[in-house]
Amino acid sequence: MSTYISHWIGGKPVVGSTARTSPVYNPATGEQTALVPLASVEEIDHVVNVASAAAKAWANAPLARRAAVLFAFRELLHARSGELAAIVTAEHGKVLSDAGGEIARGLENVEYATSVPQLMKGGYSEQVSTGVDVYSIRQTLGVVAGITPFNFPVMVPLWMCANAIACGNSFILKPSEKDPSAALFLAQLWKDAGLPDGVFSVVQGDKVAVDALINHEDVAALSFVGSTPIAKYIYETGTAAGKRIQALGGAKNHMVVLPDADIDMTADAAISAGYGAAGERCMAISVVVAVGDIADSLVEAIAKRIPGLVVGNGADATTDMGPLITSEHRDKVAGYIGAGADAGATIVVDGRDAALPDDGFFLGATLLDDVKPEMTVYRDEIFGPVLSVVRVADFDEAIKLINSNQFANGTALFTRDGGAARKFQHEIEVGMIGINVAIPVPVAYYSFGGWKASLFGDSHMYGPEGVNFFTRGKVVTSRWPDPATSTINLHFSQAR
Ligand code: NAD
Repeated sequence: MSTYISHWIGGKPVVGSTARTSPVYNPATGEQTALVPLASVEEIDHVVNVASAAAKAWANAPLARRAAVLFAFRELLHARSGELAAIVTAEHGKVLSDAGGEIARGLENVEYATSVPQLMKGGYSEQVSTGVDVYSIRQTLGVVAGITPFNFPVMVPLWMCANAIACGNSFILKPSEKDPSAALFLAQLWKDAGLPDGVFSVVQGDKVAVDALINHEDVAALSFVGSTPIAKYIYETGTAAGKRIQALGGAKNHMVVLPDADIDMTADAAISAGYGAAGERCMAISVVVAVGDIADSLVEAIAKRIPGLVVGNGADATTDMGPLITSEHRDKVAGYIGAGADAGATIVVDGRDAALPDDGFFLGATLLDDVKPEMTVYRDEIFGPVLSVVRVADFDEAIKLINSNQFANGTALFTRDGGAARKFQHEIEVGMIGINVAIPVPVAYYSFGGWKASLFGDSHMYGPEGVNFFTRGKVVTSRWPDPATSTINLHFSQAR
């Protein structure tokens, strides 16, 4: 018997009013566990109206009050992270410890946002001209929306809503319809933390809901994370509709391994970053670029580790790698393994042959060698447990390979050579770089974002750029002259 997953509007769960629904599965068992409603244009209009009605009072709430709600939310989220991790594992499939990790990284953003009195401080310049002072202030946008992907059903919403709410906005979350329950858990925690009803809403849905949010005149800004084609669409239609948009897209993250790298450390990192969360991370490593003569021993070291990975239900503490999100996605990823072999890649370890649970959307870890840049297995974002090895002659060829890729989210270099590391960080055209760090997701007080087809818009996510995204600046020039000194002056004023 399927559960019905609701919207969250006006501080309470709300049943959808249309017949359109989407199934939700437990990917580890293959069972359908719930139905989620898909909102209509009228329902989006309603949720925006509710958010708008709450927006003014929240924007005027003192900074200390907003910070207090953030602190309370932080405590609740921390205390109840185990329950939330179980919800994530049941709908996404990632292992419990990984779900806990995602929540911890999301918590960082809440902790950052508790500093909102500091973050929203403006500047002040006294006496810019005789008796004239100038100061800047940052103000709330109003109603803002976040559209999030399936692969981080807690962390990505927190990237957005913590800063958006701290900055005084009403936030509407449209989570992925594939794992929508975590959003409702967050909604309840916001309410329990004392956030006024209407300031945080959850609307379940698909393209209809997203388009209605983009086209709604009362939505000021839209933050999106998902695949590149949809990110591009959101950016283009959203900006055409006059919205402020940040739209983060897909990735193809390379890990360059120089001949001086420690083989065991590098192989451990490649396994962790390639197969963690079954490769369904936007910062997962999907290409190992083996430079020079390290390739044979590196491929051997990675291959040797794969049989030790336990694939199974993420709720089981002994599992290393869970299933993929849907059976369609599992089949698509498996198709890339065959396509790679047909194009001339060598299958070193074939995940299709792994001993896997009978039910659920599982695929074993796969290692492909001799992958070439023209192959689809290299060009496309696969988003599964498939690691490709591209062999290059030297470091410059590795840099050129990465800089030629359409995606530019993250990349990593493994080496013991500081000079090479410095050259890498300087020359590589990618937004987030790891030096002996395979998944360089920045901490919450920096900002997250790729370049090229991995991000559309000017603003990176969370941290200082997130605060800027969810506020707008105003500059005030003021003077308090003695009226007796007043004269007419038609010149353009000069500060000298
Ligand atoms: P997706 O693009 O299919 O969906 C993302 C969101 O967009 C969902 O809420 C979905 O309902 C909505 N959506 C889907 N199709 C739409 C359409 N035609 N019009 C409007 N909205 C639509 O992405 P996904 O499969 O949920 O997530 C995986 C993707 O997200 C991968 O490409 C991954 O790299 C990317 N991702 C990127 C980052 C990053 O920070 N750059 C982080 C996480 C995930």
